[in-house]
Amino acid sequence: MKILLVEDEEGLVITLTDRLVSEGFDVVAARDGKEGFEAAQGGSFDIIILDVMLPKKNGYDICRDLRQKEIRVPILMLTAKGETIDKVLGLKLGADDYLTKPFEMIELLARIEALLRRVPAQHANGNGNGLDGFRFGLVTVDFKRAEVARNELPIELSAMEFKLLQFLIENRGHVHSRDHLLDAVWGYDAMPSTRTVDVHIAWLRQKLEENPRHPVFIQTVHGLGYKFAG
Ligand code: CA
Repeated sequence: MKILLVEDEEGLVITLTDRLVSEGFDVVAARDGKEGFEAAQGGSFDIIILDVMLPKKNGYDICRDLRQKEIRVPILMLTAKGETIDKVLGLKLGADDYLTKPFEMIELLARIEALLRRVPAQHANGNGNGLDGFRFGLVTVDFKRAEVARNELPIELSAMEFKLLQFLIENRGHVHSRDHLLDAVWGYDAMPSTRTVDVHIAWLRQKLEENPRHPVFIQTVHGLGYKFAG
């Protein structure tokens, strides 16, 4: 998952980048509006975090111009305290959400997760599966709404857990190495180690399997990786 961070406050860039990278995101930072606008057009980002007050080109103009160019990447705008009217303007110009500085990191992460989950399920090129939903055991997955339920009760999955589950289901029956899953789900330039994959697999099992210690669906293939059997 690739994030473009357009922010001119160096301290904030460092803090946010560190934290986002540790959460498994791949972060590209742009320090002014012009650089940010160019990066947004060129790269394939999953989300853009966009400061409003920027040198060279402000956040509103970036947002408006990106939308005019049909670039639909979710945009989370960062506004300074007291810019209430500006938030409305940002949303009108095509931003998806906003956050007022100063904010708690946990709040930012929650907004990012929410935006990532709102994006319609992307079906990776090649497998052409295009599933709307899937059932296994007591679990139902609604790909369009990004919702998962077990025994009719909603299950909270993080954006990464959901993406991982979706990838496994769409490519069920195949064995995927940890490296391959990192590439496919987290993205090529992602920093996290293969340990990240194991942790997310463990969480998915905890939430979805009848007996997480003896998983029926999310299986380990020893020495090779994981596969979804269903
Ligand atoms: Ca600024």
